[in-house]
Amino acid sequence: MKASATQEEVDAVVDRIESVDARAHRSTGDEVTVIGVVGDLEHIERLELEGHPGVDRVMRILKPYKLASSQFRQGEPSVLEIGGRRIGGDHFALIAGPCTVESRDQLLTAAKDMVAGGATMFRGGAYKPRTSPYAFHGLGQEGLRLLAEAKEQSGLPIVTELMDVRDIEAVAEVADVIQIGARNMQNYTLLTEVGRSGIPAIVKRGLSSTIDELLMASEYILKEGNENVILCERGIRTFETAYRFTLDLTAIPVIKELTHLPVIVDPSHAAGRRVLVEPLSLAAAAVGADGIIVEFHPNPDEAVCDGPQQIASADFPAYAKKIELAANLAGKSMHAPASV
Ligand code: PEP
Ligand code: MN
Repeated sequence: MKASATQEEVDAVVDRIESVDARAHRSTGDEVTVIGVVGDLEHIERLELEGHPGVDRVMRILKPYKLASSQFRQGEPSVLEIGGRRIGGDHFALIAGPCTVESRDQLLTAAKDMVAGGATMFRGGAYKPRTSPYAFHGLGQEGLRLLAEAKEQSGLPIVTELMDVRDIEAVAEVADVIQIGARNMQNYTLLTEVGRSGIPAIVKRGLSSTIDELLMASEYILKEGNENVILCERGIRTFETAYRFTLDLTAIPVIKELTHLPVIVDPSHAAGRRVLVEPLSLAAAAVGADGIIVEFHPNPDEAVCDGPQQIASADFPAYAKKIELAANLAGKSMHAPASV
């Protein structure tokens, strides 16, 4: 819209867009209002919005994702506020904790160590996607109850995975951020329900998914009116067999060109081996990621899953200090005050 456009003109344009069953998303800035239109291209073109009072210009965003695209926010990065912590823009988030919730003692010890190192949020799965149907699949409801206790004791926002829409209410009670795992990145009913819940979400890139497919997955959540989406690069399959997945660090600056959403990196699942986690984390922070989600366990050798890649939680404070330096190099700060 033109800077001089009146509220009535903005409303009239929104009404016209909605008259053809398209959706209008308003983004109101200090100077101008941008209206993002999502719907059938032919119907929208027929409205001839260019000539409408108050309209400055109509720009076609050619990307298949619209709400996720950088143009939608005129190149401004989204900064999300979650439980008093910020992520995106200049704000770097360090999300750490065990792969899965195993016991009260394990979880609360891990949470205490994460607080000691200044973690931004605490992770831990109560529902685990596992390759084998015979493997441990998480403590379920009991795991969620323990996460609630860890949240109360540590004060850290909780990140936990939702695998099945049937568990959304239970997960929503404790989760400050719902994780959509790599294997569920294209589970469109799950994405839509998480969108409707309004709860912030981390969408992990699928094992063999392109960047466009990741952005389209995020579009499912955004389309429901949930603007709190974080993307996560966690390693993709390549021909290389010397390590588990190839952490696609090139994807970070590329995704940041394409979208306003915060992008984080999971070095643990990419590496599969503990010794690789710190170097990959440093690289991720230095390349401009908005955060890291990483696995730490009080006693990794006894972990029920992902033991080889988890780092001893007592080592977290030293790790966090180094990561903060790398994030600072990329112009981000880990401990900025939550509210201005
Ligand atoms: C996890 O974060 O514990 C996990 C299973 O990750 P991914 O979905 O990336 O494999
Ligand atoms: Mn894991």
